[in-house]
Amino acid sequence: MPIATTNPVSGEVIKSFEPLTDEQIDAAIGRAVTGFRALRDTSFEQRAAWMRAAADLLDAEQDDVGALMTQEMGKTLAAAKAEVTKCANACRFYAEHAEQFLADEPVEPSSVGAVQAYARYQPLGPVLAVMPWNFPLWQAMRFAAPALMAGNTGLLKHASNVPQTALYLGELFARAGFPAGVFQTLLVGSEAVETILSDPRVRAATLTGSENAGRSIAAIAGRELKKTVLELGGSDPFVVLPTADLDRAAQVATTSRCQNNGQSCIAAKRFIVHTDVYDQFVDTFVAHMSALTVGHPMMDTTDVGPLATRQGREDVQAQVADAIDKGATVRCGGKAPEGDGWWYPPTVVTDITRDMRMFSEEVFGPVAGVYRAASIAEAIELANATSYGLGANAWTDDPQQQRRLADELDAGAVFINGMVTSYPQLPFGGVKNSGYGRELSAAGIREFCNLKSVWMGDSSGADVDAATE
Ligand code: NAP
Repeated sequence: MPIATTNPVSGEVIKSFEPLTDEQIDAAIGRAVTGFRALRDTSFEQRAAWMRAAADLLDAEQDDVGALMTQEMGKTLAAAKAEVTKCANACRFYAEHAEQFLADEPVEPSSVGAVQAYARYQPLGPVLAVMPWNFPLWQAMRFAAPALMAGNTGLLKHASNVPQTALYLGELFARAGFPAGVFQTLLVGSEAVETILSDPRVRAATLTGSENAGRSIAAIAGRELKKTVLELGGSDPFVVLPTADLDRAAQVATTSRCQNNGQSCIAAKRFIVHTDVYDQFVDTFVAHMSALTVGHPMMDTTDVGPLATRQGREDVQAQVADAIDKGATVRCGGKAPEGDGWWYPPTVVTDITRDMRMFSEEVFGPVAGVYRAASIAEAIELANATSYGLGANAWTDDPQQQRRLADELDAGAVFINGMVTSYPQLPFGGVKNSGYGRELSAAGIREFCNLKSVWMGDSSGADVDAATE
């Protein structure tokens, strides 16, 4: 894919970039090592001050960077500005909590025959971050804020269609005061990832992206024996049971499916509705989906902008066409308009069967697949009948059903009577083909740390009489 900003509203290429040469990549990795040496010796207090300065820059530049993201990938300006705020909040969250999350964990010395024993979190070094375009600032920040607070350095290989947002990120932390080289953007295509990850100076990698990219990076990292965190695709279920507030559920279903123009890993994608409330819920859901305004993403009246890429729209069109061919019913939307730009309307498809692509594939656009379930057991079976396991939504006011759903939905997150979203306070990640490892919370900052056991005895051997293994 060429490295370029292409406006999804018009398909016009606005700015193109040459990928870095091998020599430039090599020099950048060198700077990441130098930056690491400088950063790891700084105090949490110092890093927190720089991280708060980064948050202040984001707040001050929210309008400009928001507009840049809208131009590069088509999300509404309101959503883009909210994303900038979310990033500033994450910076402040890790500025405040990193020291506590990475504090030494003491062990009762006598239990290990030591005078003193503890586990200490230490940074690993330069980490490669391969990131997607859909939340171009947030996905990268979710890695960067904890990584830098832990003392790691970052090399960002961003998606090729958001190069200007990538360049903004590449300068943000240095402008905030961090030492040179601690966070750099490498404008490279995906073919350069193998070389970078194979470099012995790069200690680990994180990827947010598709299953294919995840398999590729995991294979390289496996060969090189490097730690990885993989945040991959999702096809989140949204289970609606009879005791739920159906109007509210339909409203949240619409927001979840169409957020970010339908291109969110944790969007609800499969709507599994109990037969007793099926007609009522689906009618209300279709009404909400049909009422959304599709339009220019810079306008504040717009709910849904264009898809980010031509390929992305072609994929969605093919999945819906496949469902229609095999007997599905389109309740609203379902047809891309003629003309420039990569628009696709909010769409609801019912009567989906297991042989349709929509049943097993992630649909990365504003298209909801609806399923009927005769019981909670069938709803859970359908919800788990996917190779993905990122998030899961479920709606019921019955406490027993709530506990059962929380236990039995096979996903990295279960939200009951609410929309799956990410909070810095809660771990974020998936199971099955949605990946492994966690971002955010204490778990996220610890992923790229060496958890070192430190055991100290008395050289005379006094006090040391416990088992030694
Ligand atoms: P993608 O094609 O996998 O791209 C993501 C990043 O990986 C880009 O930087 C891309 O570079 C790079 N890449 C692609 N193929 C690669 C390969 N074989 N080896 C190394 N790097 C490779 O994904 P996308 O289409 O941009 O994003 C949508 C996907 O990301 C969806 O499946 C979505 O669910 C998932 N996602 C997951 C999360 C999560 O937190 N779990 C969050 C957001 C999105 P180029 O752009 O240069 O190709």
